[in-house]
Amino acid sequence: MSIRVYIYASQKKESQSIKAKLLKQLAKSNIEVVDEEQSFDYIITIGGDGTLLSAFQRLQNRVDSIQFIGIHTGHLGFYADWQSYEIENLVEGLLDCVDKPPVTYPLLEITMEDTIGNNSKFLALNECSIRSNFGTMVSDIYVKEEFFETLRGDGLCIATPTGSTGLNKSLGGAVIHPRLDALQLTEIASLNNRVYRSLASPMIISKDEWLKIYPTIHGKETTFMLMFDNKYISDIEIQSLVLKISDSRIRFANIRHTHFWNRVEASFIGLKQQQNNINQINNLLK
Ligand code: NAP
Ligand code: MN
Repeated sequence: MSIRVYIYASQKKESQSIKAKLLKQLAKSNIEVVDEEQSFDYIITIGGDGTLLSAFQRLQNRVDSIQFIGIHTGHLGFYADWQSYEIENLVEGLLDCVDKPPVTYPLLEITMEDTIGNNSKFLALNECSIRSNFGTMVSDIYVKEEFFETLRGDGLCIATPTGSTGLNKSLGGAVIHPRLDALQLTEIASLNNRVYRSLASPMIISKDEWLKIYPTIHGKETTFMLMFDNKYISDIEIQSLVLKISDSRIRFANIRHTHFWNRVEASFIGLKQQQNNINQINNLLK
């Protein structure tokens, strides 16, 4: 079976030189490389997680038909978990994995209604966050159309399971295994005192639930900053946001399996890698 690959590399010199190496390796294996406008089965991103997020945002209307592979160049590489020196293994594995079902993860679907009643829909791989441009943001939050709370603060963040290690984690959210179809809401600097009260802890909703948010500044409609993955829209008038798990899922080529908690350990603790390095040095000194 012939496969078609599209390569999306960051402008960094290192990413461009890895791209050249990868092109050679793909040519050796007779794998066709195409442009973004053409149809393809696999997208290989070269850069950091930011590069993969940016490719996802560009291609979000094609997520159901493509599989992602991320090579990382000196960044954190939570999604981009192939190293630049593994290119030969990657291409070999790519030929072997064609018939294997991909590994899929939940995505966040955002439906935004503006103040004149227009709806727009988009997807996020990590999260969506909304902030006030100035002043305290006052948001009524509904779960499944039922009023839950009024949140006052700088903003809020709704993250997917794979996004739970991004901004969500910095806001005190829990890290969630991506086999769970769940969304997590975290507050950004919420006001909690005798007068104003919100849950003040991360909240996790399930697949059959959705959140509806009506953001205001002291009860008035105004403009906000909306961020989703590595993109943002500043000064946007928002009437409401509906956040739910999308019917689409992101698909990663199933070339090799990295256990989720190993990936979390490698990204945030790193003791296993440190121990490996020490063992290697000790072996050299023997
Ligand atoms: P960035 O400023 O380079 O991202 C910040 C860091 O988050 C980078 O080290 C990035 O990895 C890493 N990252 C991205 N997605 C991640 C995930 N799902 N799990 C763990 N780490 C992750 O901006 P960017 O590269 O365009 O990425 C945008 C994302 O960064 C946002 O969606 C948000 O989740 C996160 N972010 C976090 C904070 C914060 O924690 N205060 C602030 C801004 C953005 P690479 O170095 O490999 O790119
Ligand atoms: Mn980045």
